Amino acid sequence: MAFDGEAPEEPDRPDRPVPVGFDARRRALVDAAVALAAQLAGVQARQASVLSAVFELAEEMTAGSPTRVRDRDLAIRDLSAEVGAALRVSDRTVQARISDAWELVNRFPAAHAALAGGRISWAHVRTIMDAGCAISDDTARGQFEASSVTIAEHESAGRLRHRIVMDAEAARTDSIDERHRAARAARCVEVRDGADGMSDLYAHLPTVQAHGIADRLHRYARRIKNHPNPDTDGDAGGDVVWEERTLAQIQADVFADLLLTTDPTTAGDGLATIRAHVQVNIPATILTGTSTGTGAEGGGSPPTGGLPGVAELIGHGPIDTETARALAGNAPGWDRLFVNPTTGHVLEIDRYQPSADQRRILRVRDEHCRFPGCRYPATRSDADHTIDAAHGGPTAISNLGHFCRRHHTLKHHTRWKADNLPGGLIRWTSPLGVTYTDKPPRTVVFTTPDDTPPPF
Ligand SMILES: [Zn+2]
Repeated sequence: MAFDGEAPEEPDRPDRPVPVGFDARRRALVDAAVALAAQLAGVQARQASVLSAVFELAEEMTAGSPTRVRDRDLAIRDLSAEVGAALRVSDRTVQARISDAWELVNRFPAAHAALAGGRISWAHVRTIMDAGCAISDDTARGQFEASSVTIAEHESAGRLRHRIVMDAEAARTDSIDERHRAARAARCVEVRDGADGMSDLYAHLPTVQAHGIADRLHRYARRIKNHPNPDTDGDAGGDVVWEERTLAQIQADVFADLLLTTDPTTAGDGLATIRAHVQVNIPATILTGTSTGTGAEGGGSPPTGGLPGVAELIGHGPIDTETARALAGNAPGWDRLFVNPTTGHVLEIDRYQPSADQRRILRVRDEHCRFPGCRYPATRSDADHTIDAAHGGPTAISNLGHFCRRHHTLKHHTRWKADNLPGGLIRWTSPLGVTYTDKPPRTVVFTTPDDTPPPF
């Protein structure tokens, strides 16, 4: 046997000696992994110091201003945009990292020091901050932090969390009522796009409302499932038509109907009543019924970047053929964009109105906010003059771009500047004088009846 020390007798185990040198290599790899993890932790601690200093710079830049809070917020956004553009990371992400870094350096100094010394990992730090950030009393937080760091030096982050959450709860002085009031401010609804034309609609709600909604959907679904539908086949017989959808499917359908229609009892699939503003790219073959709904037809990918036989909800991804046809039939509130499936040329945009037409072209060109890294949808962004109308900038496609509220504010109230370049490019110049050129997400080739050149 090649065990070191006193190994117990294990008769079922094959007696396979470790080849010479393997344990030395094994030791070297473990040691290297441990050393690199410690170095990485040290680098992450330094990164936190740098990002925290960015926050302090914003504080100093706006010290003494009468509108300090607002100015500091704008200064942080401005600096986040400068750092984010340089790192090719969205400035919202950078701003969140700056906020975390400041929190770590200033409110969790012992955890920061342990990270710097390579004694705990970033995952441990994250766990300690998540659990302890709501402890407002400095002494109580300090005690919580000290005991958490000691545990973190010997446990995985997952076990650490389990061991410290109750300590954190005990150290809090605020009541559940105060906490709920604060937590309630974060209520929101988000869409997360998935595969195969499906998405998740996520709502962060007060617990009572969330369970109330779930209960109501469940009761609707049970009622629909347990009551046969009226016999509508027209013959004299009293056939009973039982519901074939599962409870889960009925709940999802009722949920959509309730939110998309005013009267869920008379609704079809809800699509006919959608008043939201979205942009759908529908290949003509889908409208003529000749599409197979696959991207393989029509001789390759058109220059729009879309697929020839597949409809697309712009900025989100492919949608199924049946939905696309239903949407095309219900024009009000929707922009219909007919695309030649072979060339990808936009054949027609319906509902012509000069200024609205410009806006549609811009939405097709931009898809989302044109600040580097930002993906906020164009449909919810402002179409803004890059050179202000007040400074002689024309209201022309070549002088317009979509900017979300955040980046619109950045452009108007900080030293960031934007210019339009040919081809729909927008060049941003940061306060440090660094330029970042944002390309439109796809190049659309427009054809016009009189063959005039494209508008940008
Ligand atoms: Zn933006």
